[in-house]
Amino acid sequence: MTQNAPLIDPFARAIRYLRVSVTDRCDFRCVYCMSENMTFLPKKELLTLEELDRLCSAFVRLGVEKLRITGGEPLVRRDIMTFFNAMSRHLASGALKELTLTSNGSQLEKFAQPLADAGVRRINISLDTLNDEKFAKITRWGRLPQVLRGIDAAQKAGLRVKINAVALKGFNDVELFDLTEWCASRDMDLTFIEVMPMGDIGNEDRLDQYWSLKDLRAQLEQRFTLTDLAERSGGPARYVRLEETGQKIGFITPLSHNFCESCNRVRITCTGEIYTCLGQEGHSDLRGPLRASPDDAPLEDAIRAAIALKPRGHDFDYSRQTVEGQMTRHMSHTGG
Ligand code: SAM
Ligand code: SF4
Repeated sequence: MTQNAPLIDPFARAIRYLRVSVTDRCDFRCVYCMSENMTFLPKKELLTLEELDRLCSAFVRLGVEKLRITGGEPLVRRDIMTFFNAMSRHLASGALKELTLTSNGSQLEKFAQPLADAGVRRINISLDTLNDEKFAKITRWGRLPQVLRGIDAAQKAGLRVKINAVALKGFNDVELFDLTEWCASRDMDLTFIEVMPMGDIGNEDRLDQYWSLKDLRAQLEQRFTLTDLAERSGGPARYVRLEETGQKIGFITPLSHNFCESCNRVRITCTGEIYTCLGQEGHSDLRGPLRASPDDAPLEDAIRAAIALKPRGHDFDYSRQTVEGQMTRHMSHTGG
């Protein structure tokens, strides 16, 4: 594949990382993510698997090296393996360095091996608690044993698993050490995510759920020796190593601004909108140019035009006990 001039935004950041939501649907209803009664998009609004292929391939031509598939729950999208298998050609050509996904784990028993066969090497699995009842409560529709079987299948297929847990005060704060030690015992890294103000989720009060990762880190330090790692992902994660277990712990603090200057990523929704910043409403449509012509030139022009509008950073702010910068769209729309 011929490589065109890479995507560079107005703040001289090269765009190397694309996150694509392939569906807004999910088999769970996590309380911080969705309301119980969600209205999902009609099928014709969604990009088809062929359109997703054209779109992702255009980004790979323009220099994207890492592709993360997300949702909603990516593995509930019908025939999603067709798409993963198609993307593996970009791994084979060397243009794409990593093909990965974020999943709730519910379908992994079935999909872990096919994903590994398609060239996926690592997977992020979201899991906030190891308690059956609490799991059912936080996901509303999920069941823990099914996810644990999915994690077993992923490890058996040779996938490196990272667990993502949303830090929730009054919920999984009491499980901090259990979660950490469970991950260590299975050789899995663990990343904590600060809860973000995304979408209308019903009656839950986000300020009540908010557990600062600064506090979480201080608690970890009571039991473990933490060494800061220089490694940055170009995103909102910082990492430490726990000397006692050797495992890596990540902290994703999307509410802080300290990562925007190195941001190398953009997101695509399942309807083909490109969001160049998770924390801003600004977006552009790529489905129009995709559907208007089988020729990819207008699509590439639209991608370049969108990148030229990538903002410097975002405006989330909990500091005055009000949720400023509240986003009206759900996380499942843009993909976490
Ligand atoms: N369904 C898949 C999953 O749960 O991993 C992928 C999509 S989900 C939207 C991606 C990530 O976003 C998950 O780790 C989830 O916990 C996180 N997430 C969802 N809503 C969030 C919120 N309001 N604040 C912080 N993280 C959130
Ligand atoms: Fe579904 Fe993931 Fe949202 Fe939970 S966080 S409702 S699993 S999309």
